[in-house]
Amino acid sequence: MMNKLLIPKLYYKDIYSINYKKLKDKNITYLLFDIDNTIADNRENKPSKEAIQLINKLKKDFTIILVSNALPLRAKRFGQELAVDYYAFSIKPLKNTYKKIISKYNINPSNIAAIGDQLYTDILGANKMGITSILIDKISNNESIITKLNRIRENIIIKKYKIIERGHYND
Ligand SMILES: [Mg+2]
Repeated sequence: MMNKLLIPKLYYKDIYSINYKKLKDKNITYLLFDIDNTIADNRENKPSKEAIQLINKLKKDFTIILVSNALPLRAKRFGQELAVDYYAFSIKPLKNTYKKIISKYNINPSNIAAIGDQLYTDILGANKMGITSILIDKISNNESIITKLNRIRENIIIKKYKIIERGHYND
């Protein structure tokens, strides 16, 4: 039986095509971004100009927080470049980091959306917390062995249960 918590609430091509206005209209005020393959290719060690521009624009309507399973140095560099709060080594899909954020900011999961490229970390973690989960297509195929193994599981379940249709995005 499939775990329903693996189903993303919304699905977009990338962070640039997400309908942020729709999120704002649904009283989402906090956006949790994954870093690797969501904001940047794993080989890049800082955010692109395009990413910095987007995040700066979003700051008008949302509080932006990076929630990454990456090592502290990498998360720190992105956090500093984007001038946002960041959490490294989050061990998504475990609840710890989400709980920390909810308590630090004193917010409700219904006001949060989490954006990432992996079902078994980003989407599962957000759904477990009642956070609006948003899947995007990975930026590149450059991934760690662990992620590649997750992708095998992910691709099987996506096909078997038609969780999403690649390329069929939300409005
Ligand atoms: Mg990722």
